[in-house]
Amino acid sequence: MNYTNSPIQQITFNNQEIFVKRDDLLHKDFSGNKARKFYYFLKNDFKDIKKVVSYGSCQSNAMYSLSCLCKIRNWDFEYYVDHIPSYLKDKPIGNYKGALDNGMCIIEKELEKEIPSKFEEDTIFIPEGGALQEAQYGIKILADEIISWSKETKQKDLKVFLPSGTGTTALYLQKYLPFEVLTCACVGDSEYLKKQFNLLERNNHPTILEMEKKYHFGKLYKEFYEIHKQLNKQTNIEFDLLYDSLGWLCVNKHLYTKKYNILYIHQGGLLGNISMRERYNYKYDKIQ
Ligand SMILES: *Cc1c(COP(=O)(O)O)cnc(C)c1O
Repeated sequence: MNYTNSPIQQITFNNQEIFVKRDDLLHKDFSGNKARKFYYFLKNDFKDIKKVVSYGSCQSNAMYSLSCLCKIRNWDFEYYVDHIPSYLKDKPIGNYKGALDNGMCIIEKELEKEIPSKFEEDTIFIPEGGALQEAQYGIKILADEIISWSKETKQKDLKVFLPSGTGTTALYLQKYLPFEVLTCACVGDSEYLKKQFNLLERNNHPTILEMEKKYHFGKLYKEFYEIHKQLNKQTNIEFDLLYDSLGWLCVNKHLYTKKYNILYIHQGGLLGNISMRERYNYKYDKIQ
């Protein structure tokens, strides 16, 4: 199992041809940009390490991917959350269920006060969402795959698009690619995203495209659900509901009618769609 080298395919969406890098197909469990970001911890020697500690939301894609990493490496996984809703405790689904099945030890606490600030020698601490320097190790491999493909297919005016959370993936792609990287802020606004970029690298940031409407991360929007269903129907590819719906709205707004080719990075996250789809069904389809 090497967890690299995902295929690139051409799709047609709303009459426009776009290339898609299928990182959702890297592996059944360890896939998407989290597999790229945590690849460093998969591949390198950590002979004294016994445990990974992280924190964030209890439905996060990063949490699930870390649980897969720890299972593969036979490490303990301790994950801190603010709060686990009772419906999820009663009936675990999606990333939460997957991570529990992989042996995650989840700890519900007030985050600021309770996460230890110092760790034992045998512990790796991963910040929320995997926003860390080590992420560039795997993202450089992703960039190299894109460069090889662009040479094989003789791409000239290529631009790479991907939606951002912490912005780590977009930032390191820009660092290692000779093409312009375009992104949009799905968590917080563009100012927040710029700050996130600056925490990791001072220069050479991706271009942030703006939307007119302000979207709040994790909230349900009819246009997100609509474009998700349209994508499914027209391309036969399932995209993530949290990031990709906004990503494709952004592509629709800014990148159509442009002269260059676009490579859209599919960053996985499909296990998280199970709980999102339940919420969307309930709100807009009234299916229970
Ligand atoms: C985590 C995630 C992102 C955001 O990645 P960042 O590197 O934090 O910007 C985007 N899409 C999906 C599907 C994700 O799981």
